[in-house]
Amino acid sequence: MSNKTIAIIKPDAVAKNVIGEIVAKITQAGFKVNGLRLIRLTRAQAGAFYEIHKERPFYGELIDYMTSGPVVPIALEKENAVEDFRKLIGATNPAEAEEGTIRKLYGAGIEANAIHGSDSDENAAIETNFFFSRSDIVNINQ
Ligand code: ADP
Ligand code: MG
Repeated sequence: MSNKTIAIIKPDAVAKNVIGEIVAKITQAGFKVNGLRLIRLTRAQAGAFYEIHKERPFYGELIDYMTSGPVVPIALEKENAVEDFRKLIGATNPAEAEEGTIRKLYGAGIEANAIHGSDSDENAAIETNFFFSRSDIVNINQ
C-alpha cells in the first residue's frame, strides 16, 4: 500500500472557479499537497494520459473535454491515499456519487465530473511522473 496519489481538477471545475473549494475539501480530508500546477494539456498529452480508454466510444470526446481549458494536477500524500481519495471524489457519474463527495458537489455529468483520482498505486506513480518532475515536487523520494 502506497501513500501517494494524483488528483486532476478537470476543465469544468476550473471554469466554475472552484479550485480553492476543491483543494480545501482535499486538505480537510487529511491529504497533504506535495505538488500543484495549472496547465493546459495538448491533445497529445491528454491522449497519452487516457490511452487506456482509447478503444472506448467516448475517447475522442474525452480528449476534447480534457483539452477544453486548463487543469490542475495535484500530487497528494496520505495513508491509504489511492483508496481514500477515490472515496472522497465519489462515483464516475456525479448523479450516482455519494452526498458530500467532490463529484457530487461539483461534477456536471459523467464526462465533466470535476476531478480525476488515480485508480492504483502503479498508476499513481505513472501519473506523478506524467505531471511532475523531481524539481517541482516535495518529498518525491519519501
Ligand atoms: P474514473 O475517472 O472514475 O476512473 P473511468 O476511468 O471509467 O472513470 O473514465 C475516465 C474518465 O472518462 C471519467 O472520469 C470521465 O471524465 C470520462 N468518462 C467515463 N465514462 C464516460 C462515458 N460513459 N461517457 C463520457 N465520458 C466518460
Ligand atoms: Mg479510471
